[in-house]
Amino acid sequence: MTLSKLLFGTAGIPNSTIKKGNPIEGVKRIHQLGLDCMQLEFSHGVRMKEETSSGLRRASYQLGIPLTSHGPYYINLNAREQDKIDSSVERIIQTAKVSDMCGAESMTFHAAFYMKDSPYDVFDLVEKSLNVIEERLARLDIDIELRPELTGKTSQFGSLDELLGLAKSVPSCWPCLDFSHLYARTNECNSYSEFMEILNRIEAEIGHSALEKMHIHLSGVSSNSKGDLKHMNLDESNFNWRDLMRAFKDKDCGGHVISAGPNLEIDALKMKNYYHSL
Ligand SMILES: [Zn+2]
Repeated sequence: MTLSKLLFGTAGIPNSTIKKGNPIEGVKRIHQLGLDCMQLEFSHGVRMKEETSSGLRRASYQLGIPLTSHGPYYINLNAREQDKIDSSVERIIQTAKVSDMCGAESMTFHAAFYMKDSPYDVFDLVEKSLNVIEERLARLDIDIELRPELTGKTSQFGSLDELLGLAKSVPSCWPCLDFSHLYARTNECNSYSEFMEILNRIEAEIGHSALEKMHIHLSGVSSNSKGDLKHMNLDESNFNWRDLMRAFKDKDCGGHVISAGPNLEIDALKMKNYYHSL
């Protein structure tokens, strides 16, 4: 018997949810579909009525559907102006507060843009902000995994190296691994052996527990030399998701796999069914 368990869900409310825009109905729909988890998308701002967050927490608990979350796009911990950095910190903290009220244990966000700066300087700045955020969340008694995302564009901070570096130095920080972004960003990492190499590296650098509680984003993807252009349905792109599922199985990975392509639940179910057929 394996201890770890891989859960499959959608980035936001499933498309087939009848009451669009209602995340509680989304959780119920996830349950009906036979999926396992759902990600709350706060892409355009973190606002939620208290009755919605408490209802979400209840539905998630009662139906056994854990939640993750995604912070607003408008975050840049390497902005030119200090007030923009400050408001990025506030947006991350606000995302953590609301996610925590909903019962989510893991939240992801796009940490920064390089703005043509040296990646080392950007790393230091992001690390500093994450330390501040971690300290403030501890004072608020909020326990949530901070997961900067592996980003798809070469102009965005968030390479695999950078995320592993942050995870080593900030205790509540873990990577959000977007393997489609990794493929778009590097034009590599699309074979079973490369997937295994990445998982082995994560295990060696930040420990086996990182593989037991992964936060993963997956979709089809198209890219050019600057990285990802658009998210697509899995089978419309040549992203080798089936071999990735094999690698997850062989490394006994656990955690959340979030389907982020246009047809959300269809691809989530496709991945789940394939994974369980292995
Ligand atoms: Zn994202």
